[in-house]
Amino acid sequence: MTTFDYQLFVIGGGSGGVRAARVAAGLGARVAIAESYRYGGTCVIRGCVPKKLLVHAAHFLDDFADAAGFGWHVPPATFSWQKLIDGKNQEIARLSAIYQENLAQSGVTVLHGTARLVDAHTVEINDQQVCAEYILIATGGKPFLPNIPGIEYAITSNEAFNLTSLPTRVLVVGGGYIAVEFAGIFNGLGARVTLSYRGEQILRGFDDDLRQHLHDAMGKKGINIRLRDEISSIEQRSDGALDVVFSGSRNETQTFDAVMYATGRVPNIDGLGLARAGVELENDGGVRVDQYGRTSVASIYAVGDVTNRIALTPVAIREGAAVAQTLFGNASVTVDLPVVPSAVFSQPPIGTVGLTEAEALERYAEIDIYRANFRSLRHALTERNERVLIKLVVDAATQRVLGAHMVGSDAPEIIQGLAIAIRLGATKADFDATLAIHPTSAEEFVTLKEKTTRRQHS
Ligand code: NDP
Repeated sequence: MTTFDYQLFVIGGGSGGVRAARVAAGLGARVAIAESYRYGGTCVIRGCVPKKLLVHAAHFLDDFADAAGFGWHVPPATFSWQKLIDGKNQEIARLSAIYQENLAQSGVTVLHGTARLVDAHTVEINDQQVCAEYILIATGGKPFLPNIPGIEYAITSNEAFNLTSLPTRVLVVGGGYIAVEFAGIFNGLGARVTLSYRGEQILRGFDDDLRQHLHDAMGKKGINIRLRDEISSIEQRSDGALDVVFSGSRNETQTFDAVMYATGRVPNIDGLGLARAGVELENDGGVRVDQYGRTSVASIYAVGDVTNRIALTPVAIREGAAVAQTLFGNASVTVDLPVVPSAVFSQPPIGTVGLTEAEALERYAEIDIYRANFRSLRHALTERNERVLIKLVVDAATQRVLGAHMVGSDAPEIIQGLAIAIRLGATKADFDATLAIHPTSAEEFVTLKEKTTRRQHS
């Protein structure tokens, strides 16, 4: 019988890998984990956590201005990018250390180095070969950059977190989560921001009303959004500034101090030895897995962004735990995700759960739409013309609420709670029977009396 060094060897110390390692160790397995950079992965080191800190920072300028309406006199504010980045770096160092400590305390062997697959049960790390009964690939993703002349002058979110100073003129390219969030961050901190997106409207895949509402709100905050836009090249000037050539009907050149591409992410698989071990990929480059996270090689599993399915931290964590429970917990655990709430930490933020109006129309014969668009009480005393949008999508036949969507302050905090109701199959009558908390923006979700429209599947 083969003796393995470990029962589970995890490649990648991000959200999915760390959870799998800890759950497996908790179930009594001998586990090792390898990370080539810093424990914590995209979310902790260069994603969700530092991004949210920067989003908080970007709110203050508006808050100082709004304070005047409540009687405050605030002297002109000054901002130190360096202090913000130092604080952010300290926090992610603290969190990364906690990740490592938690792993060690769970009895996991914590390794530093780049691991590669040799075969179905062997991994090479730091010039040593290690044998494991099972191997888990949890190497995450990395930014994708289109191949245009001068793309080497562009940065991605990776570099944006560590710029030495705040650029004055910023071009953000892309219309997804990261583009919209960073456009808001740079704008809120005082930069002049242009967002360039190739499609008809930002945030493809989100509810159309949310997309339009956020577009308008970002415009009011001074972000210049260019739709149906294309960039043909970037050139660096002698002073370091970047000349961006826009193609198409608006053939023109504009100068920026930084150009940030947020044009999607791709699985991190370079040099992993997947082909050598026989691990197959999907056409989009993600590692192919079944509902248990098992790859085409029975002893090798994969979770999280490297599988290129839903690239969200809580999903990777669920997948990691499910693999550990399936392998060592005497259970067959799949990750069933019928309802995935998510947020875009734009300014104002989006919270969303369930079906968009367009998705519901495709799947149901008749749907009811309830919508409210209002100015929150906070802005009764400010000069800010910011409005909140909330929306419910309801199946007309069963009255089940299929989707809840919001753009406005605290939308992610509010939608998290509504996600429970929607997961449990709450009907519009359940929402109506729920007492409001007054005065809040959230109460609008339970006081939507009149339907805005009824639509039929065409
Ligand atoms: P997204 O897939 O959300 O958006 C990519 C954007 O880039 C789209 O607007 C896409 O346009 C555009 N694009 C793609 N290729 C090109 C190209 N060749 N030229 C020009 N534009 C292009 O990716 P992100 O990078 O924003 O984020 C990656 C993932 O990370 C997200 O999908 C999400 O799962 C996760 N994430 C989640 C966050 C959260 O939960 N708050 C925050 C940040 C990231 P088109 O629409 O036309 O395809």
